[in-house]
Amino acid sequence: MTTTCTSAPVLKERGQREVFCGLTGIIWLHRKMQDAFFLVVGSRTCAHLLQSAAGVMIFAEPRFGTAILEEKDLAGMADANAELDREVARLLARRPDIRQLFLVGSCPSEVIKLDLHRAAERLSLQHGPAVRVLNYSGSGIETTFTQGEDACLAAMVPAMDETSAKELLLVGALPDVVEDQALDLLTQIGITHIRVLPGKRAELDPAIGPNTHFALTQPFLGDTHAALVRRGAQFIPAPFPFGAEGTTLWLKAVAATFGIAPDVVDRVTAAPRARAEKAIAAATQTLRGKSVFFLPDSQLEIPLARFLTRECGMQAIEIGTPYLHSDLHGPELDLIAAGPTISEGQDVDLQLDRVRAARPDLTVCGLGLANPLEAEGLSTKWAIELVFTPIHFYEQAGDLAALFARPLRRRAILRGQHPNMLEAAE
Ligand code: SF4
Repeated sequence: MTTTCTSAPVLKERGQREVFCGLTGIIWLHRKMQDAFFLVVGSRTCAHLLQSAAGVMIFAEPRFGTAILEEKDLAGMADANAELDREVARLLARRPDIRQLFLVGSCPSEVIKLDLHRAAERLSLQHGPAVRVLNYSGSGIETTFTQGEDACLAAMVPAMDETSAKELLLVGALPDVVEDQALDLLTQIGITHIRVLPGKRAELDPAIGPNTHFALTQPFLGDTHAALVRRGAQFIPAPFPFGAEGTTLWLKAVAATFGIAPDVVDRVTAAPRARAEKAIAAATQTLRGKSVFFLPDSQLEIPLARFLTRECGMQAIEIGTPYLHSDLHGPELDLIAAGPTISEGQDVDLQLDRVRAARPDLTVCGLGLANPLEAEGLSTKWAIELVFTPIHFYEQAGDLAALFARPLRRRAILRGQHPNMLEAAE
């Protein structure tokens, strides 16, 4: 008999999708990589998406922009390349602080006709070694919104130097304060040689080799994982550092790789773990016994379902993810009790039918689906908020639980019920 979701059948869906495109990742990547510039080669729609999503301040010199490509036939593509070269030269002359330039592809057919990989190679020759030019695609045809970060990091890996040093590589763009907490915990445990991808500046980007052991902090980095393995680096499989349990298991997996015993991790983490458990317990009063349905969006769904079911007492009805990557998500599925439907991919109408039939207490979904579901009396949580809010490691575990408790409390208040009595009153 199946006891966890490890061997649960996966419902595969290939229909209409409702997600943001990979350009969205630029919003958090440009804050993290302080000498990088993201030049989207795209349409006015791409420019509008970035400007409205990033809330650009007119006083700041932004580190992203859009080179708008008007409609061109194939014969006009030579001009398009010359135009791109001119724009890049102008940008780099005006912004000598730029050390890494990413040409980011998008969906319009004119952009698809343009070979941005060759353009990046050509421009690297012109502007290197001072500036490294790389390319990746953020196109909504090919990517969900978190895949933009994955594509960006995967594009960086082949350009990195070689090393034989035994080092831990943390992979994933975390807010600085969260990254500092992680580095502090790892150092206290006894791991001293730690590098981070992406680095805050180009000169801090790691070198890679057969003694690089890498741990992912985000569950959507499948292509980056593959690129690092191709460079000979060794992956540390582990649940992701969400919640007290996830963080402890992640730290223990990393510690074991470096020959450090689990009781050292227990000793070092006792105080922050206790704080995290206390903070989670406060939100759990609202979450316990409630049902949750994940629509596929951020690729955080499987680790978050593990956190909500094991640490917050929720019941998952369906856990939908855009992609199911057994190397990355296997340790999570091992921990989730059998019962929920695991689905991969999207056929939005069918999924909405299942949400309506199940009427979960909470639906985690994209922005475009949340309002219609709210109008039907269902509580929702925007998946994108989970990427823009610090939620990793012990100190953020209570905030993570509270993010899910808030919509339930709000609906209870609107109904005039005590938030913790919602279930009893229904
Ligand atoms: S990349 Fe495609 S989906 Fe994204 S903003 Fe541009 S046109 Fe729209």
